[in-house]
Amino acid sequence: MNTIINRFKNQRVSQLIHLKNRPEGSLPERVENCHRLKSKFSHSVSLRKKEGAKKAHYGDLQTCGSVWSCQVCASIISERRCQQVQNSCDIWRDRDCQNSVSMITWTTPHNIKQPLSEVLRIQDRAMRIMKQQPQRNLYPVYRTILKEMCSVGAYTGRENTFGRKNGWHPHRHDLHFMVRANVSQLKKWRHALSVAWAIAFLKAGGEIDNFEAFCSRSVRIDQINPDDGYDRISKYITTIEGQSWSLAREATKGIVKLGKNGNITPFGMLEAIRHGDPHSRLYSAKFWEYAQTMKGKKQFFPTPGLSRFLGVDNKTDDELLQESSAGNHYAFLTHDQWDDINNLEIKGEVLAITEHLNEFEFMDELDKLIQAYQAEKAA
Ligand SMILES: [Zn+2]
Repeated sequence: MNTIINRFKNQRVSQLIHLKNRPEGSLPERVENCHRLKSKFSHSVSLRKKEGAKKAHYGDLQTCGSVWSCQVCASIISERRCQQVQNSCDIWRDRDCQNSVSMITWTTPHNIKQPLSEVLRIQDRAMRIMKQQPQRNLYPVYRTILKEMCSVGAYTGRENTFGRKNGWHPHRHDLHFMVRANVSQLKKWRHALSVAWAIAFLKAGGEIDNFEAFCSRSVRIDQINPDDGYDRISKYITTIEGQSWSLAREATKGIVKLGKNGNITPFGMLEAIRHGDPHSRLYSAKFWEYAQTMKGKKQFFPTPGLSRFLGVDNKTDDELLQESSAGNHYAFLTHDQWDDINNLEIKGEVLAITEHLNEFEFMDELDKLIQAYQAEKAA
């Protein structure tokens, strides 16, 4: 469950994995201090509440902005990205009733022996090769197919899952802003894209055992219908902790959701470790591998074409996080209170009780909450 309490608990597991694996003498990574240490010039930790928000959030704390290894920051950032996608969809739909949005998902074969960095390297190289391929022969290349689709650009989201049988499974979701198409057009494009993808994958050094199987499995197109799709997007985008996924949500919240088909997402690994899963040691090692491999990589971004065409503001993750930290003053925490909250690891629990209380009621409840957890710890 993606609740605020679980997000903070999973963040702690990630912090401990970093602490354990980081080479001796090296500086701590930002995630290790995220929502633990005060920011440079702050004297005390505060709570703020946004207009219309149910719960308060912490202010004056260091944050890491890591969409890959910190579930607290990832959740805040991907929520903002969802709003961005929703706005773009609205602008696009308002321009022409024939405009539509389709999600193309790209995957490649992989096996348990391959490190994540290797699967990603081949996949990224294949993507570059495919996009640069000029039209020379009979097979339509990527650029030709996109022209046919009248795509003005896309948002790209990356996602990684892990399976104990087949290893790392990185994939991409491209949300294309294009014309509305019928089923036979979509099928034709899907097939053409899968051939272009297979050729690029082979050129990038990938191996394909069964060409036909590759073509039928490695590319998917899902069109969002204006009748239900846009409503669905806004409905799910506004449900912050909803269990259902719209296509836009699928594209932006890749790493926040838990895996399907026996595969597990990296944040799912943290959750499993926390619950004493028998595969905890494996997940801990895999999470560290993943965190190191993904560090610095963009998780979600618009193509330059889409940015220009729709006037999308291309803010960085840190900028979005900065904006999200604004809000009206709700409460100050004393040094002792903050130390207790940190030591007892109850940051999510504290935010959860801000939902229905004003500042004075909250202060009363906070002391009771801290005492209850202290008593539990001592018992
Ligand atoms: Zn963080």
